[in-house]
Amino acid sequence: MASETSDSYETLIQFLYRAPIGLVQSTMTGAVEMLNPMAAQLLMPLSSEGNLDNLFVVLDAVAPQLRLLVADFDAPMGVVCDGLRIALGAASTTRTAPQVLSISLLKVDGARLMVVLADATLEAQREEQERNRGLHDAARIDHLTQMPNRAAVREQLQRMMARPPGEIGLGFAVLFMNCDRFKQINDTLGHAAGDTVLAMMAERLRSTLRPQDCISVPCGYGQVAARIGGDEFVVILDGMRRLDDVQSVALRMLDVLAVPYGTEHYDITCNVSIGVAMASQTTGNADVLLQNASIAMVEAKRAGGARHAIFDPGMRERAEQRGGTEAELRKALVERELFVVYQPVLALLPDGGVDRSAGVEALVRWRHPVRGIVPPVEFIGVAEASGLIGALGDFVLETACGDFMQWQRDLGTLAPRLLAVNLSRAQLAEAGLKVRVAQILASVGMTAAQLQLEVTESLAAQDERMREHLAALKSLGLKLALDDFGTGYSSLSCLHLLPVDTVKLDRSVVSQSDTSAHHRVLIEATVRVAHSLGMDTVAEGIETTAQAEVVRRMGCDKAQGYLFSKPLVSDDLVCWLQQVDTLAA
Ligand code: C2E
Ligand code: MG
Ligand code: MG
Repeated sequence: MASETSDSYETLIQFLYRAPIGLVQSTMTGAVEMLNPMAAQLLMPLSSEGNLDNLFVVLDAVAPQLRLLVADFDAPMGVVCDGLRIALGAASTTRTAPQVLSISLLKVDGARLMVVLADATLEAQREEQERNRGLHDAARIDHLTQMPNRAAVREQLQRMMARPPGEIGLGFAVLFMNCDRFKQINDTLGHAAGDTVLAMMAERLRSTLRPQDCISVPCGYGQVAARIGGDEFVVILDGMRRLDDVQSVALRMLDVLAVPYGTEHYDITCNVSIGVAMASQTTGNADVLLQNASIAMVEAKRAGGARHAIFDPGMRERAEQRGGTEAELRKALVERELFVVYQPVLALLPDGGVDRSAGVEALVRWRHPVRGIVPPVEFIGVAEASGLIGALGDFVLETACGDFMQWQRDLGTLAPRLLAVNLSRAQLAEAGLKVRVAQILASVGMTAAQLQLEVTESLAAQDERMREHLAALKSLGLKLALDDFGTGYSSLSCLHLLPVDTVKLDRSVVSQSDTSAHHRVLIEATVRVAHSLGMDTVAEGIETTAQAEVVRRMGCDKAQGYLFSKPLVSDDLVCWLQQVDTLAA
């Protein structure tokens, strides 16, 4: 019986001796009493002189905490540490040597420790890979919508573009969507409302992608809807043979997304502009394809938004030109290449004379180092699209108000009584505009009644919200003018809806006043309706005395045009204002 027990003990010792884990028995201070070959193999690279007499000494460089753990362990026996990971770092001398050790310490009694050592290199690597994969997945998901993000879309497109030519022949399309006026939702209703709308949009996009849109799915990629930026979504349609099919999906998405979003407090309308690019028409990589689609999206926006546009190479050329202008314009604002000129607006007096000091209109110019003086039509649109319009508008308003007050000081009664400044669509939609206008007026000591802000007819006629913005501005006490009237957006019958003080007849109408009866009737009717609503009228772009005669006869209150003066820099305007009046209208 006793020999049987000693046999099985011997077998156990043999088993442990050869076990593929390191086993060490030591004293409480680490003096090694027994170790198996595996333990020797694992510990040897860590021992500077090949001496494995004391476990703590061997492990001191990589796990100095072991001594403390043991010393602090008060219980008479038990697990001191279990599977403690030790990164060996530089102590791992060869590429095949373990890089991570796992150590478990068991206090057997008051005098002895049992130590289990294992090579945990592979396990640690696997865990790290899994962690990375988790991070990678998280890095490819948009948290708000749970859709793939830009990185995921790029990878997907790269894979799709790398498919063999036969498969590419089946074609796929990228739809790049950007919300129209999303900033306005954030600014006026708050970011939480904005986020709600985006999440609802994502849901609608997902449910709009019906399986039958995918005519054939060769590699199982199918369709992808992703959010790739703040208010930007991308849809990849795989297996689309014909552009017509893609267009009908785009149209359906426009419809679906245009339905108002019912949130807790409001019904929010948010249209999108969609740019479409077909992979078969693209030479280049995934980034080029995505960029083409985004260029087409910008064209859709420029055409008024809430529509789609199909990419063509001419669009890229135009975008590059605009891009060049944008970078230069950014620089121009910093390097003060912009300046303001003033065109006189004269009052047409009943006695046939004119009053030179009725007002001026501020018009921005760009002194370009190479192109010379650049007119606003060539850069206002770029400034609007790139978000530079705010800074540009502030510059014009500050400069013009400053000059206006200087003229009051220098010229007294000869100084212009009213300053007109143009506002663009993007400026009007900006939340802080009213406050900034008030600040600028206060900073130069100008009264609001001396300022007239001009908005184009197309803008004012646009929607209720624009009219609300206008009313808010007007509450400061300033005047509003409807610019470019007669270019076809609003009709006379709508004039009463707009909170404006002045109607400016566009040059295209005025220039034909002396030759076309139809235009004369239009001018006369406009003046009558305006007057009946308590508004006054300005005829723009007067170039001949004949035109001046007609508009005066039709009852226009004021006139502006090259006949009287081209736009002038401040010093020249001062001279012009001081001239003795020989002008007759
Ligand atoms: P607008 O506000 O209708 O300004 C009148 C435009 O007609 C000016 O062109 C002026 O130089 C031009 N003009 C005036 N009289 C005559 C004339 O007798 N004959 C001809 N052929 N043209 C005349 P400009 O300065 O090139 O400005 C064009 C437009 O650019 C402006 O139209 C306005 O909408 C916009 N703009 C100009 N300055 C600014 C600005 O500071 N901010 C914004 N947002 N827009 C501006
Ligand atoms: Mg104007
Ligand atoms: Mg105008």
